[in-house]
Amino acid sequence: MIDILQLGHPQLRQSAQPITNFADDTLQTTIDQALTQLIQAGGVGIAAPQVGNDWSWCIVASHPTLRYPDAPYMSPLVMLNPLIIDRAETCDRGWEGCLSVPGLRGLVSRSTSVRVTYQNRDGEPRAETFEGFAARIVQHECDHLNGVMFIDRVERTADLMSEVEYRRQILKIPHDLPI
Ligand code: ZN
Repeated sequence: MIDILQLGHPQLRQSAQPITNFADDTLQTTIDQALTQLIQAGGVGIAAPQVGNDWSWCIVASHPTLRYPDAPYMSPLVMLNPLIIDRAETCDRGWEGCLSVPGLRGLVSRSTSVRVTYQNRDGEPRAETFEGFAARIVQHECDHLNGVMFIDRVERTADLMSEVEYRRQILKIPHDLPI
């Protein structure tokens, strides 16, 4: 099991480095471990700094969960050197959480769609447009690669909420159900 760094760890505030050696064994193994960890944790995204890795990569894996019941299904997508090259001017406020910030949710404004260039695990260039919740995850994960956390993006601290209150007020589900 790979450790997920928690808020306050200095590495979460550092910028990730561009990947040039795509075949690097340590890089590829770390991505595999993060993917396993993400699935086990039921998360919808993870980025390199969260697992103590210096390189610029993230995984976006939107799927419906009790936390995010309306999230669309997508196969986990590993993006290396992701770069948001264009974004919709329209923004949407939505709840976010983070594996590195357990127990806390925040209402964050994000562009409703983003265009991203990245490389796949073989180093092949790709470009893709993400909409809605997937676009939100992409922006959250790309922020991690610049040392930015979702709590930095709330407009006011009153837009932060404990997981317990998020369940009670937003999800309206009993406190003893795992989410
Ligand atoms: Zn996060």
